[in-house]
Amino acid sequence: MSSIVRIALNRPLRRLFDYRIPEGLSLAPGQRVRIPFGRQQATGLVVDTNVQPPEGITIKPVSAAAEDWPALPPETFRLLSWASDYYQHPLGECLFTALPTALRRGRPAKEKPIVRWIATGSPDTLPSNARKQKALLAWLSEKPDGVPEKEITQAGYTRAQIKALADKQLIAVVSQDTGDRTTTSPEAHRRTPQLSPAQQEAASQLASPSDGFGASLLYGITGSGKTELYLHYLKTNLEAEQQALVLVPEINLTPQTVARFRHYFGDRIVVWHSALNDGERLSTWLKIRNGEPVILIGTRSAVLLPFTKLKAIIVDEEHDSSYKQGEGFRYSARDIAVYRAHLNACPVILGSATPSLESYHNAQQQKYQLIRLEERAGNALPPTISLLDIRSRPLEGGMSQPALEAIRQTIDSGQQALVFVNRRGFAPVMMCFDCGHMVECPRCDTRLTYHRRDRAMRCHHCDYQAAATEHCPKCESDAFKPVGQGTERTEDVLSATFPDTPIVRVDRDSTQRKGSIQKILDTVNTGKPCVLVGTQMLAKGHDFPGVTLVVVVNADGGLFSVDFRAPEQLLQTLLQVSGRAGRGKVPGKVLVQTCHSDHPLLQTLCKGRYLDMADQLLAERETGQFPPFRAMAIFRAEADTMEQGLQLLDSIKPLAQAPGIDVWGPLPALIARRADRHRSQLILNADNRKRLNALLKDICNQLDQRKLQGNVKWMIDVDPQET
Ligand code: ADP
Ligand code: ZN
Ligand code: ZN
Repeated sequence: MSSIVRIALNRPLRRLFDYRIPEGLSLAPGQRVRIPFGRQQATGLVVDTNVQPPEGITIKPVSAAAEDWPALPPETFRLLSWASDYYQHPLGECLFTALPTALRRGRPAKEKPIVRWIATGSPDTLPSNARKQKALLAWLSEKPDGVPEKEITQAGYTRAQIKALADKQLIAVVSQDTGDRTTTSPEAHRRTPQLSPAQQEAASQLASPSDGFGASLLYGITGSGKTELYLHYLKTNLEAEQQALVLVPEINLTPQTVARFRHYFGDRIVVWHSALNDGERLSTWLKIRNGEPVILIGTRSAVLLPFTKLKAIIVDEEHDSSYKQGEGFRYSARDIAVYRAHLNACPVILGSATPSLESYHNAQQQKYQLIRLEERAGNALPPTISLLDIRSRPLEGGMSQPALEAIRQTIDSGQQALVFVNRRGFAPVMMCFDCGHMVECPRCDTRLTYHRRDRAMRCHHCDYQAAATEHCPKCESDAFKPVGQGTERTEDVLSATFPDTPIVRVDRDSTQRKGSIQKILDTVNTGKPCVLVGTQMLAKGHDFPGVTLVVVVNADGGLFSVDFRAPEQLLQTLLQVSGRAGRGKVPGKVLVQTCHSDHPLLQTLCKGRYLDMADQLLAERETGQFPPFRAMAIFRAEADTMEQGLQLLDSIKPLAQAPGIDVWGPLPALIARRADRHRSQLILNADNRKRLNALLKDICNQLDQRKLQGNVKWMIDVDPQET
């Protein structure tokens, strides 16, 4: 081993740093170290221990190893190095994404001990005015094992009260441990899910972990029991000491999914998502790194965690756009999952009722095995979809009479309805009918959404908000009115039309508070008649057996978009929302309101077979030479003026001119100004991914050498989701 080590830092720098290994220290790739950096100490990760010592330069020594084992084991390290290269993102930032915040900041890789308090004195010794302290002490007296401090504060007592009692020596710390006691029964005692014949047929086609790498695309219509199949797969294939990863788009929205997994696997289930605090993250990270045989259910970044015994990966709702990170390290968790399975020689299952065109194309190319599950579980039938032309119909808050009538019938027969609106707030625009003024965001090229509940005008693209006014801010006219539909407005119309039925709104505003989604689900789960009104959130993997009618308020948003992915996304959303209908005994009905009922896309939607639509869309992509037939990357620029950004991209353009690569732009982005930054883009569309990758690397290196004028930033987005 050489005496020099190369180290990556958690900084957006496309370079690494060399340090000397002090006598007696041995280091391996992936290991965390403390190093002097500038005038400070920094946390770094060892990248290479086989570095030739440069001549004539003195190199500072590593201060210490944070621990004597690599935080990133070899397989994870290789995965992230590959991702750094594929997505052209600096290695340091990629590697550090796999660490929990505590470890990025250089804290020890150990869980904080949990402080448990126990009563040591009697409440009678306290003065009668110390009511809360007395109550706390009395409560603790009944708990001979002591109570963790966190539970005490959760029970409504304060740290100050704990301290006061401790100072009086009426309570004491009993033990300090990590509090990680396994309490539920062992997994082996839980039963295996019973599959229907169609599910069994699908299950029999899935490769087992002992077969090595294999990617399967599980196309299972909504309600076909994909989750049931995952459970069965893991139950019958995963050995006791092995780990598995289940990626889901959003956990908080679907607590029932985690509950279903816990039902079969008990404490073997651990979760990973954005709502965990630093301590919880570290604790879960350690379990994974230590090779504990967990099944991790997690969102996007879970795919980067340092598993050491990973033997199966499942990506649920693989088409979901939340798998693609939209800023910084712009990776696709789905694509990394497939590569990870390949590195690891284990199976990966991509499941969806509406597979992405990328994955479906891979299946057609025989790279993935296509498994079909085209029957709903438990005798439920697929819903029937019909279009409701609203061109010359009077609308009330966006709802047509036939749609309201259908809802009434649904409620009257004791069932539930779901109304899908693609915008939260009351209305997407406030407009003056005298002077034509529409209220725009002062910082973005967008209009402000009117939120009537909070009397606010909000930008959905930056954090700008202003108080709503009754008059036109420009001409003072009072003909100042909301235009278009938001969830709040539809909720109001429904509440007025069906005063005796609960109307439940589900959008980012109504679910912000912790536990609110559970409350909403509880209302729905009573099975009593109700109407759900909400955004895309409602489309995500929920199982509402009582819903028999779905109304789509307006399907036209994506029909004429310039984004080449818009038709695919529109179909996916409409089918996913439709899929919430008729999962129980009564068959479901879907009404799609539109002004373009003769549009071919909507016509095929009614026939309902997603793969037929996907075939059509793929043919269009091939004609237009778009992904997945080509490899795409976008250079994005952000600057204080549009001029600066376009100039930078203009200077990149000649570097990108190469055989087999089309260069489009530079052009302003769809929303050209966002939070006062002007955004533009240069699109590279290549016939060969390897060549594109090499070219991108070359361009990035050249850009790194440059001193940029003014406040201009550039970034690279490989396999962009948005153009
Ligand atoms: P998907 O994930 O494909 O939307 P789920 O796994 O959520 O479907 O299943 C839909 C519904 O059907 C759930 O209520 C589930 O409990 C039920 N279900 C699934 N498989 C079976 C089965 N084999 N027998 C009875 N009910 C089932
Ligand atoms: Zn006006
Ligand atoms: Zn804005």
